[in-house]
Amino acid sequence: MTTLTFDSLNPATGAVVGSHPNQDAEAVGAAVARAETAAAWWGGLGHAGRRRRLLDAKAVVTRHLRELAALVHEETGKPVGDATLEIVLAITHLDWAARHAEKVLRRRRVATGMIGVNLAASLEYLPLGVVGVIGPWNYPVFTPMGSIAYALAAGNAVVFKPSELTPGVGVRMAELVAEAVPEHPIFQTVTGLGETGAALARDPRVKKVAFTGSTATAKRVMAACAENLTPVVIECGGKDAFIVDADADLEAAADACLWGALSNAGQTCVGVERVYVVDAVYEPFMRELSQRAASVRAGEHYGPITMPGQLDVIRRHIDEAAKSGTVVTGGPDSVRAPFVDPVIMADVPEDSPAVREETFGPTITVRRTRDVHEALELANASAYGLAGTVFSRNKRRAMELARAMRTGMTAVNSVISFAGVPALPFGGVGDSGFGRIHGADGLREFARPKAVSRQRFALPGMNLTSFTRGEQELERLIRLVTFLHGRRKR
Ligand code: NDP
Repeated sequence: MTTLTFDSLNPATGAVVGSHPNQDAEAVGAAVARAETAAAWWGGLGHAGRRRRLLDAKAVVTRHLRELAALVHEETGKPVGDATLEIVLAITHLDWAARHAEKVLRRRRVATGMIGVNLAASLEYLPLGVVGVIGPWNYPVFTPMGSIAYALAAGNAVVFKPSELTPGVGVRMAELVAEAVPEHPIFQTVTGLGETGAALARDPRVKKVAFTGSTATAKRVMAACAENLTPVVIECGGKDAFIVDADADLEAAADACLWGALSNAGQTCVGVERVYVVDAVYEPFMRELSQRAASVRAGEHYGPITMPGQLDVIRRHIDEAAKSGTVVTGGPDSVRAPFVDPVIMADVPEDSPAVREETFGPTITVRRTRDVHEALELANASAYGLAGTVFSRNKRRAMELARAMRTGMTAVNSVISFAGVPALPFGGVGDSGFGRIHGADGLREFARPKAVSRQRFALPGMNLTSFTRGEQELERLIRLVTFLHGRRKR
């Protein structure tokens, strides 16, 4: 069983925030076994029982908002205000999932069509059982809750492995839910390093794994899940683009761009990393952007880099970009561990790591484009495809651009606004992953569709699924199908 512990540290000060067990495969297995029993009970409660308890859980989390925000602040280094915002969003999702699960998942009749005229058909979405959630450290409440809340609302029990950088937040969330639902451990947290997550992914009793983190680790998780054909929902990072059209409100665009790029020290999967500005407004936009950036400071407006190893990635991206591009704000000296001050780089070649790879730091590259079409083309020329932003006063063009962006989400004249709308699904394409959390799609992600067709009466002379079927039945079928589908009809 578990013998060792590990510490979570405050990345700004290095102080120990808490010590947690490094749970091994046996301990993870025991948690999954408990979750199986809990899942049977939880699944049997039905929608109304789950809704009441989840709304209670939401109330408990809300009453501990300040305490949880302080813990997020300590483990990630982010300002308490940002931690509070993240938890408020998570609460909104928990509320939405609890209130909408029944409507989205309950049994409904579906039309049977002419050939099935003697049938009644129904569809419902049933729980999977135990769901494993492997979470990141950048938004240790909001991001995993996007899976946990929806998986619970769909009737599953959850075993959660938080990042080794934010174990305390994960443990506290499970304690708070248990306060509201003391009967069975419907939501447990197992702590540990990567191997603890791997043990969870390998366990055949886990019926779905929701992973958020790097693309490289996602592939390892998928390989482990492949052994048992365990389905996965994968949310990796992005290289999100921000397009500024000629008629955009430049002040609002610059303000939103900076916040989208710098808040949480740029450690946001849907953070702004690449900016494409049409030629006509390039200079005034850059003036606005750099003026505003001059008053934003690490350690004051946003926190440190939470994961020490990330500093090397950020430094490499800036150094490479500085060789061939123009550094407009900050530069290599902006990296003063564990903080990184804002860095804006222009004219960086599109094949530079700062444009191609996820930086996950408070840096952006800005590029002048001929028009919005070129901006869109460059925005879409990425292996990632998580989210993006369009700023334009022309509503029609903004919507066209947003729809043509090869991403799961796009915000128009705002940044990251989709994350605050619980009804909208969240997830990406390409290297950003697949599957969706949030919204009705997020609920269905953690359920299995169950289809039932019931014969209401036998169709005289039309028993097609029988060895007694004769030529006449087949003839009638051909006539029917020709009548239904044989004519050109729009
Ligand atoms: P990882 O992808 O390595 O970690 C994400 C989660 O997976 C953590 O809980 C981690 O646990 C766990 N894990 C690690 N190895 C395994 C494994 N073999 N099997 C199962 N689970 C495992 O990301 P990092 O935290 O190391 O960050 C690396 C980069 O990923 C960042 O720099 C950033 O670019 C990107 N990232 C993107 C995020 C997003 O929001 N999309 C969030 C976080 C990171 P443990 O922490 O204990 O290793």
